[in-house]
Amino acid sequence: MIEAPVRRILGVRVHDVTMGEALRIVEAFLAGGQSHQICTVNPEFVMRAQRDPAFFQTLENADLNVPDGVGLLWAGRVLGQPLRERVPGVELMEALAARAAERGWRIFLLGAAAGVADRAAAVLQARYPGLVVAGTFAGSPRPEDAPAILERLRRARPDLLFVAYGAPQQDLWIARYQPELGIPVAMGVGGAFDFIAGMVPRAPRWMREAGLEWLYRLIRQPWRWRRMLALPQFVLAVLAARYGGGGTGAGAG
Ligand code: UDP
Repeated sequence: MIEAPVRRILGVRVHDVTMGEALRIVEAFLAGGQSHQICTVNPEFVMRAQRDPAFFQTLENADLNVPDGVGLLWAGRVLGQPLRERVPGVELMEALAARAAERGWRIFLLGAAAGVADRAAAVLQARYPGLVVAGTFAGSPRPEDAPAILERLRRARPDLLFVAYGAPQQDLWIARYQPELGIPVAMGVGGAFDFIAGMVPRAPRWMREAGLEWLYRLIRQPWRWRRMLALPQFVLAVLAARYGGGGTGAGAG
């Protein structure tokens, strides 16, 4: 079992893992039997966790928090909390689907708009022959819908559950129901089903490499501007932690 180093970005727990290490860790989770939760931490998560104790606690308790987003790598450098590699949630999900096809792990896709999980599952099955899809369901994060969703999941008995309700709902949902579900690995994946199903294109590679994925998303989905205010707030908070003299800048000096 790989012990991934824990870093703190504005107090929020993030594991310093590469994609390869994340895959080996998930493999160990699946061999281990108990249930595990994976979160994909980006600057929006970190800002949300500052003012949402339940979400902060969910990130404290998760078994693996991958660094999703270049903003986190930048913050890690500024704060002396080095993170080696970006592990985007959608890419980890794809890599896990590929591994699932090889190993015979059963996957379940929960969330997104009606029909999207189904389309994403079909795309993955075409890409990774032999992939076993235990089920797909849009569902909703509303508590009144949980009993029916839990019943479906119990019947489907997946090894890997991907939940696309957006953060923090998806991660809170997993934390709340994972104990009774006992699914070996459950991961919140945000807009990943939309990307995989081709509903929303991902930014071109050069923009991703230049750290401009946020700009691409803002241009394509301008209604996101309000939540994207978390990005400049994140930058300011990181700089304040490092240079503000408040003593919270881990590794300062
Ligand atoms: N979503 C959902 N039910 C909800 C809220 C959101 O199924 O009540 C889905 C939405 O359709 C989308 C995903 O959750 O597929 C969240 O996508 P978004 O791009 O907001 O997530 P991010 O990647 O930014 O966390």
